[in-house]
Amino acid sequence: MKSICILIPCYNEEGNPSLINKKLQSIFTKDKLNKYRCTILFVNDGSADNTLSEIKKISDKYENVYYISLSRNFGHQNAIKAGIDHAEADAVITMDADLQHPPELITDIIKYWEDGYDVVNTKRIDEGKGGIFKRITSSFFYKIINRLSYVKIESGAADFRLLDSKVINELQKINEQNLFLRGIIPWLGFRQCSIKYQPDKRKIGKTKYSVKKMFSFAISGITSFSIKPLRLSMLIGLALSILAIVYMLYAIYINLFTAKAMPGWTSIIVSVLFIGGLQLLMLGIIGEYLGKLFIENKKRPNYIIEEKKLRNEN
Ligand code: UDP
Ligand code: MG
Repeated sequence: MKSICILIPCYNEEGNPSLINKKLQSIFTKDKLNKYRCTILFVNDGSADNTLSEIKKISDKYENVYYISLSRNFGHQNAIKAGIDHAEADAVITMDADLQHPPELITDIIKYWEDGYDVVNTKRIDEGKGGIFKRITSSFFYKIINRLSYVKIESGAADFRLLDSKVINELQKINEQNLFLRGIIPWLGFRQCSIKYQPDKRKIGKTKYSVKKMFSFAISGITSFSIKPLRLSMLIGLALSILAIVYMLYAIYINLFTAKAMPGWTSIIVSVLFIGGLQLLMLGIIGEYLGKLFIENKKRPNYIIEEKKLRNEN
């Protein structure tokens, strides 16, 4: 019997694990899925509320529910990685705890897997839901990242997808600190497809992605996949140097051949401020990459497990 594991990262999701568990258990008994051994793996990402005890209660009651609890909050991507490293199944489906990813879609996703796809991605279609701000920033982010990087990342891509055990094996070998699954997974290759879904409203609690977190997620996504910003800063620097040389020649000409060398305060202050600002910007870009190297170089684990209950352990 083939097995399917639903992997759900949870950070302060009190109330949601029970809801999603009920939904999933009823889907598991349906025709399309009852030929598989279906399990649920919750990853508690250092929640400060009662998420863990709720998950434990569910796991005591349902023999197909397992969990991993991390020692602190390691972030969404690392929580998924922890699950991927420990999920033992022929296919793993990752989804959010808040029921924004409709569980009903799972049967469609499985159909594509049965047809031979190794990765079934999902793409959100937004129609007014999810907030206009998030929609605009998200579409802007995907435009930039696709311009800048070498892998194509679809806009509206969600961390709601099926991964075949082949892909899971490869993902287990990847130990990047700045994990950006939406970029890594297209990069891995294999047979991939994408299906559309309409996101629901978050059931309980509020989003863990503040504007600040989203911004740092975006910067990390771009700099993990591309060195084009570095090249761009070099090109801008080059163009400015050429302009500076032209201006220098002009200044010398004025000085030597016309008698009206002005005090020139304006041009000096403007160019000093402009070039200064630009240099800081470029240093910042370089710093971003250097910082990444620094963190990566330490080779710390992506997560630390405090306690767990897994399928192969009982
Ligand atoms: N999440 C997590 N660790 C974090 C932040 C979020 O495990 O540090 C989980 C969260 O519990 C949820 C999923 O990641 O299951 C997506 O988070 P959220 O719903 O807040 O993001 P949004 O849907 O607003 O983009
Ligand atoms: Mg959500």
